[in-house]
Amino acid sequence: MAKYDKKSVEDLDVAGKKVIVRVDFNVPLDKQTNEITDDKRIQGALPTIKYLVDHNAKVILVSHLGRPKNGPEAKFSMKPAAERLAQLLGKPVTLAADVIGEDAKAKAAALKDGEILMLENVRFHKEETKNDPKFAQELASMADLYVNDAFGTAHRAHASTAGLANFLPSACGYLIQKEIKFIGGALDEPQRPFVAILGGAKVSDKIGVITNLLDKADTVIICGGMAYTFIGAMGGTVGDSLFEADKVDLAKELIAKAEEKGVKLLLPEDTVIADAFDANANSKVVSSMEIPDGWQGLDIGPKTIEKFSAAVKEAKTVIWNGPAGVFEFEKFAVGTKAIAQAIADTDAISIIGGGDSASAIQNLGFADKVTHISTGGGASLEYIEGKVLPGIDCLSDRKNGRTFAAGNWKMNCGVPSDAAKLIGDLVPLVKDAESRIALGVPATALAAALEASAYTNVKIAAQNCHFEEKGAFTGEISPLWLAKMGVTYCIIGHSERREYNAETDETVNKKAHALLKYGVKPIICCGETLEQRESGVYFDWIKGQIEGALKGIPAEKMCQITIAYEPIWAIGTGKVATDDQAEEICGFIRGVVKTLYNDDIAAALTIQYGGSVKAATAAGLFSMPNVNGGLVGGASLKADEFSKICLA
Ligand code: AMP
Repeated sequence: MAKYDKKSVEDLDVAGKKVIVRVDFNVPLDKQTNEITDDKRIQGALPTIKYLVDHNAKVILVSHLGRPKNGPEAKFSMKPAAERLAQLLGKPVTLAADVIGEDAKAKAAALKDGEILMLENVRFHKEETKNDPKFAQELASMADLYVNDAFGTAHRAHASTAGLANFLPSACGYLIQKEIKFIGGALDEPQRPFVAILGGAKVSDKIGVITNLLDKADTVIICGGMAYTFIGAMGGTVGDSLFEADKVDLAKELIAKAEEKGVKLLLPEDTVIADAFDANANSKVVSSMEIPDGWQGLDIGPKTIEKFSAAVKEAKTVIWNGPAGVFEFEKFAVGTKAIAQAIADTDAISIIGGGDSASAIQNLGFADKVTHISTGGGASLEYIEGKVLPGIDCLSDRKNGRTFAAGNWKMNCGVPSDAAKLIGDLVPLVKDAESRIALGVPATALAAALEASAYTNVKIAAQNCHFEEKGAFTGEISPLWLAKMGVTYCIIGHSERREYNAETDETVNKKAHALLKYGVKPIICCGETLEQRESGVYFDWIKGQIEGALKGIPAEKMCQITIAYEPIWAIGTGKVATDDQAEEICGFIRGVVKTLYNDDIAAALTIQYGGSVKAATAAGLFSMPNVNGGLVGGASLKADEFSKICLA
């Protein structure tokens, strides 16, 4: 489960700075008049916008609206949203005529402190949803800082929802901060008993959610259409109710898992059945295990309502996602309303996933009786499922010093299927790790590795790139390609490449610039030979490597960089620097960076130690104040061993 501890707007120094803010102004519009029919999403973004305005930032807002297919279209313009925002703020909001065009750029450049510019619909560019690095770079070029406050799109890695963080120092807005606090809080450290209520149509949509909650909750309640597959799995007859025959075995597994974990799994005891899927169908109440042919379950029965309400009453934390029945038909909305009522009546921390359950709570007038109504349907579901949300994951960590464990596979495991297998084995072992995790895989395995690690906390690194974007360089890899593929990191300056491939401080520096240009994060290696160590010149040597690699890198890009200290005498030799030796040099590197930049940048810099790191040595090394993790060779080729390093 990804634990997010991210910078918020309040952690940024925004005065006088241009801040590009991804908001979710995807508001419903009247088809005839094009007027906004519900401005909740704009209202939701006000706290972040007001904070920035009050703190003299130059605010650039970016959002999508609807689903434009082929470039700009008047009906998808942000105009109504910009106008409504201006009304709500009582303050002008300038609308740009384009997104990254001349008009947007000129208006962004002309912004004064406290002024607001809204860019046109970001999906007028197809590059947005592809997270195209050049597009993200163009967007980023208008601003100094990036704030994401669009929780509704945080489960998508688009240019404006995630890509921007590869180019700018970043933080979350108040909306996302609140989602992390409540959904994240409930999943990471719930007040117990923790009761999860899951309804809705299909088991197949909620497998991930149920599985993850069986690891977290004390009671999992299953209702709605998906309950009948579970009833079937327990030997009941379900008549014409919704039923997924191909999910019966899975339902049996989930029932067994609940038992094994000591989680109470509650299913409907009685069911309101109907003789047709119709608002006015004939109905009666029967045992959930005995639904006759010709009848279908459309709601939970009175005994079940009592049982579920009692569980909610005892809870200290409740999460609810999905209706208990076909609540669109008044007659079969009784169960859903009763659950909403039980949640409204409890003093427990109550969290309502987006979508149908959120509307049910709102329509019943209970919105202010629950702790938190999520602003994102899909995003909240994926969060509860334990998936990594790219729009949050990408943002800067609040605290310095988060451990970063990166594997370097070197010339191993380059066959795509082998790489996918290794990553597939690793992912479940490290899903709750608090450290950042990456794997540097051979170029031949990059695509497979990216696919196998998608939406997990395992990121992919390349082991090299060229410093030019294109040209006659046979066999080389363009940093732009890495960016387009979605590669997060690239290892440069490794001692083996310095020794065998003529990598110098100069080429390392050029590569660092090229990677930063396209939003790939460099992991810059440095380190001394045994000879240098023994002759005592190693401090100067490392200082020279760092100064050379960082030449011309602006301060605001330093948050994208990792430095890996790899004493050459400890690579592949089985010799490990002692904890103190590692600490000494990592501390020294931090000092060099402090001289080149400033205290804050040096303190925030991630410095890894590399060289024969093993599960047994990782904890000691990583606990040293200046060692923020490791660049791990051989030990990253075994999922079990590497997972222990990631968890160290
Ligand atoms: P979901 O989007 O998965 O949360 O599902 C919401 C939909 O599930 C709603 O449209 C409900 O009408 C539907 N639903 C809930 N219970 C039942 C049921 N017993 N039979 C058929 N559909 C149901």
